[in-house]
Amino acid sequence: MVESTQVVNEGTSKELSGQETFNQGLLAFIDASPTPFHATQTMAKQLLTAGFVELLEGEKWMLENGKKYFFTRNFSSIIAFIYSPELVVDEGIRMMGAHTDSPCLRVKPNPEKIDHGYFQLGVEVYGGALLSTWFDRDLSLAGRVNYIDSQQQLRSTLVDFKDPIAVIPSLAIHLNREANEANKINKQEHLPPILMQIADDKTVDFTDWLRAQLELQGETDVVKVMDYELSFYDTQPSAIIGLQKEFIAASRLDNLLSCYVGLQSLINANSDKPALLICTDHEEVGSASVCGAQGPMLEHCLQRMIPDTEQRLRAIDHSLMMSVDNAHGIHPNYADKHDENHGPLLNNGAVIKVNNNQRYATNSETSSFFRKLCASNNVQPQVFVTRSDLGCGSTIGPITASEVGVKTIDIGVPTFAMHSIRELAGTQDAFNLSRVVTSFFQQ
Ligand SMILES: [Zn+2]
Repeated sequence: MVESTQVVNEGTSKELSGQETFNQGLLAFIDASPTPFHATQTMAKQLLTAGFVELLEGEKWMLENGKKYFFTRNFSSIIAFIYSPELVVDEGIRMMGAHTDSPCLRVKPNPEKIDHGYFQLGVEVYGGALLSTWFDRDLSLAGRVNYIDSQQQLRSTLVDFKDPIAVIPSLAIHLNREANEANKINKQEHLPPILMQIADDKTVDFTDWLRAQLELQGETDVVKVMDYELSFYDTQPSAIIGLQKEFIAASRLDNLLSCYVGLQSLINANSDKPALLICTDHEEVGSASVCGAQGPMLEHCLQRMIPDTEQRLRAIDHSLMMSVDNAHGIHPNYADKHDENHGPLLNNGAVIKVNNNQRYATNSETSSFFRKLCASNNVQPQVFVTRSDLGCGSTIGPITASEVGVKTIDIGVPTFAMHSIRELAGTQDAFNLSRVVTSFFQQ
């Protein structure tokens, strides 16, 4: 008991600056990534800097032994890998998966609304957002815009307004005495953010307004905006908080935290072992899409890495996927929502997620492998299984396992307030998980 405490403390004091650097990078990554498009772009930039070569799916791949590659699909999903054809059949691929999307409010195609002199945008709820947390926030807008240029070519670009330009004000408690007991939120009526005041006889064309904004951002050849995928987001920057600075407060920790863990682990894996990171869009809406985990993106990549079917199937049998997505830490104010023996604590290590009804893909073999890996890195995993009288969430793990047939473990760092506009994690967990994943990629 004493011995193991000493090992942990020793490790913590030695690695403190490493952890701080890691967390600063994580915060910057989240703030630079208000949408899946931006997250993919941010990851691509870091991979290029780290010496990875970008591949295009529409061109012939000429892969070279020992090189590192990545490609994107829909500019919102990304796969990066270390190519080692001589090792891959017998050793398999060390894989990690995460997702780039988070619940949010998306602007509708014809969004303009003017009501009582207020200009608003109609929004569609994306995924299972905790809607009450979207009120009274200083919101901005970001995403992808598709347009026609002066050569009549269709182009796409990313936009991020950065400034707080919108707000969804709460209704005063005096006008809703039940607000603290039963605050019903009607998704159609109550969510359109207010952007400005406007005279009732004026109109605004949102796409014209977007074009003007793109010009401000340096996109000067936008003749006509054809369509867009834009999300509102909270402009409050990510922060390290708590009396002892033990918490990370940020938007989209689910699941940009895991994307960042995977990215840093793959970049830092000083190894020629076959390794692969996949971060896909659309997890929050079921993953069934061209670029989602239920689509063929990973399968297509494996076919191009290992064209021979016999060899590919042998490699898959020797592979393991770590599906990394955040877990629910036990909340002191709502402790009865957890099984009494399965209440993960923040800053107490990554969580192995178990569900025998296959909402998670973990089995005793994959969890034992992960426990052993944690032990060799002097960290202790926790375990989560939902209360027997509560339903269980799911993630990309079971989807990838059933699509590709790769052995999978579902893990993730414990967090509070999942799907809130501002979630909470511990400052130690992401860093420690990245040490474990790095060693996984290297072994
Ligand atoms: Zn998630």
